[in-house]
Amino acid sequence: MRGVLTAVGLAALALPGPAQAFIGYGITMYDPSCAFGCYDGVSGYMLECSVMDHGPVGAHSHGAGGPTSPECRAGDTYFLTTLAYCMKTNCDASTPMWKLEKFWSEQATGDKTVPAKWSYGEALAQLKKPPTDEYGEDDHHLTRTVLVDAEIVKDNALTREHFEYAEMIHSRYGLILLIVGFGTPIVISMFTRLPYMSSLSDKLKPYIVYPSLIGTYHVRPLPFLLGNAATIGQSLYVIMFAALNIAMAAAGYKSIQPNTWFGNQWQEVMGYFSARTGVLAFALTPLVILLSGRNNILLWATNWSHSTFMVLHRWVARIYAAQVIVHSIAELVLYIDMGSYEAEFKTEYWAWGIVATVFACAMLVFSSLFFRRWSYELFLIGHIIMAVFVIVGSWYHVEFLFSRKWGYEFWLYAACAVWFFDRVIRVFRILKNGPRRAVVTEVADDIVRVDVKGIRWTAAPGLHTYAYFPALSPWRPWENHPFSILPTALLQSKRDASLSGAASGSDTPSNADVEKSGAVASTSRPERDDQALGGAPGTGITLYVRKSKGLTKLLANHNSLLTLLDGPYPDNPTDGVLKSDRLLLIAGGVGITGVLPYIARHTNVKVCWSVRAAAEGLVRDLEGPLSRVAEKDVRIGSRLDVAALLEEEQRTGWNRVGVVVCGPGGLCDDTRALVTAKARTGPAVWELEVDAFSW
Ligand SMILES: Cc1cc2nc3c(=O)[nH]c(=O)nc-3n(C[C@H](O)[C@H](O)[C@H](O)COP(=O)(O)OP(=O)(O)OC[C@H]3O[C@@H](n4cnc5c(N)ncnc54)[C@H](O)[C@@H]3O)c2cc1C
Repeated sequence: MRGVLTAVGLAALALPGPAQAFIGYGITMYDPSCAFGCYDGVSGYMLECSVMDHGPVGAHSHGAGGPTSPECRAGDTYFLTTLAYCMKTNCDASTPMWKLEKFWSEQATGDKTVPAKWSYGEALAQLKKPPTDEYGEDDHHLTRTVLVDAEIVKDNALTREHFEYAEMIHSRYGLILLIVGFGTPIVISMFTRLPYMSSLSDKLKPYIVYPSLIGTYHVRPLPFLLGNAATIGQSLYVIMFAALNIAMAAAGYKSIQPNTWFGNQWQEVMGYFSARTGVLAFALTPLVILLSGRNNILLWATNWSHSTFMVLHRWVARIYAAQVIVHSIAELVLYIDMGSYEAEFKTEYWAWGIVATVFACAMLVFSSLFFRRWSYELFLIGHIIMAVFVIVGSWYHVEFLFSRKWGYEFWLYAACAVWFFDRVIRVFRILKNGPRRAVVTEVADDIVRVDVKGIRWTAAPGLHTYAYFPALSPWRPWENHPFSILPTALLQSKRDASLSGAASGSDTPSNADVEKSGAVASTSRPERDDQALGGAPGTGITLYVRKSKGLTKLLANHNSLLTLLDGPYPDNPTDGVLKSDRLLLIAGGVGITGVLPYIARHTNVKVCWSVRAAAEGLVRDLEGPLSRVAEKDVRIGSRLDVAALLEEEQRTGWNRVGVVVCGPGGLCDDTRALVTAKARTGPAVWELEVDAFSW
């Protein structure tokens, strides 16, 4: 007898097993299938204790919801002997006795918590002679031990075997997605570190790593704020991963017809497909969260930048949302076709599935560049809250359906573990750095210098920290922003330190170095009260912050501003550029903070920096470190000619030129395009790092 399978019915058919891992990897569903086939055949029979008017009688109306309760089956002699005899005759000798007994103890009554009055062996022992006839149309109740039609048993067993096979493939493909998504950056990074690989990587970088997929757009948003174009390399990852997702959703279906759960092959494959896309979405959850993390194993294990992982986070999240949407549509279409949509719609699992789907879609919309630009803080908090709804909705979706029997929840646990790990490490970092008092000095109209004493971090370039200023945002004490780190010692030579606080103006870069488009007021260097900070001059870190529209707007002169620091974190890998014969540091405005630490790490450096006239105070504040750079081109009020700068380096004939650029989007994108073109034509090898102050 074939019936309509509902998701709830499927859940009721499930054998509660130990949730060790995933189906096919530690969890079995219907083993031995012959015994399940027998159960399916017998469980629809009316017993003397069945409640006649309680719900429909059908092949899948098992469990507490049907006319026959587990307690009723547990004590019914003929039900138990019929089931036992069916198992004895339909399960071949290769099925071990312990499996049959295990099945019996967990499934004979349809409820693990309600044991049958006999064991399997005891039930068999009740049979004095084999049954000779089947349960017929005229039977109102089961009043004797009967034969179960072997065809029905076989159809049911095969249906379950194929369903379990499909579930095993879902788990396998989910694991493949996760491993490939996670492993690809690690494998590629390892590959570039292999012996003899550096020359190949030098040749590939101008074609894969540096160029953008769409013109010269990368940091600058695409027209109409459509988003940021990825580089070719980032796009290759995204295309590979999207293709893998499509392949994993489309491949590996094995149909069995006739099928006791699905009325036809279309329904059967649609059922597998909808479950597949659901499992694949679950499998992507930990990866999506991992890619966005500050404390992210991938950042530690690879030479990929945080901004690259943010690009991948966005794209993998979009793929995730696509899987969620396809899953929901496929379920809807399937249940409408099966005629069970009305029933499913009223269930709790369905409602939570809708919650997760709706919030996943909302996240797609509200994480667009338009909203991120409109209010980054609102975007961020909304993003986290919506992500919580997606995870909680997903959890209840499978909880109401499967009660943690099949291990789907492990994907969600992994996602939560990744998130909590990141958050816990953040807290540890903040506690390790301790609460600090910062001196904030306005160095230009919209630029402040933040000196945090007593912090000792490596003076390595390419680092940033997340700064909290809770006194400035008492209503949002969690708010924090990334800033590049300068070791204060780099800014204060011994002489500078002795002069610190004294009026200055004589130490500006020479006229030959500095091109000014307008008059520069002869203001003195702002005074900083180093004593108020405690500790000797030079110990600590310095941030230069350009005030924007949010928290940074509130930064003003302050002698003791409570500051918490989460860091340091790496932005970009620095190895490649530091190994160059020549290092060209290109900065725009406050972007100087991203390149300045390199001057202490390379012996052949040229600094090229342009600032708006209004930011001249910043140039004065950095006189100390700049005066120690032999070659520099500092422009106040006029732009750098990056093409000419690169041309000059090429003419000089260096074998390997490193370029680090940090500043406004246009400067970063132009430099990227120009360096890419130079690197393609050679003969010099060009290394490029772009630190754009955004992701
Ligand atoms: C790795 C890195 C290093 C940076 N270093 C410096 C630096 O040394 N000096 C400096 O002046 N600026 C730096 N920035 C930029 C700085 O973080 C933003 O200007 C600052 O967060 C703006 O804060 P706000 O609330 O005042 O800005 P809002 O006006 O609210 O936002 C302006 C823009 O800043 C970006 N932004 C805001 N908050 C964040 C956040 N928490 N994380 C990432 N981006 C955010 C968004 O794109 C937003 O559209 C850096 C950014 C990054 C990613």
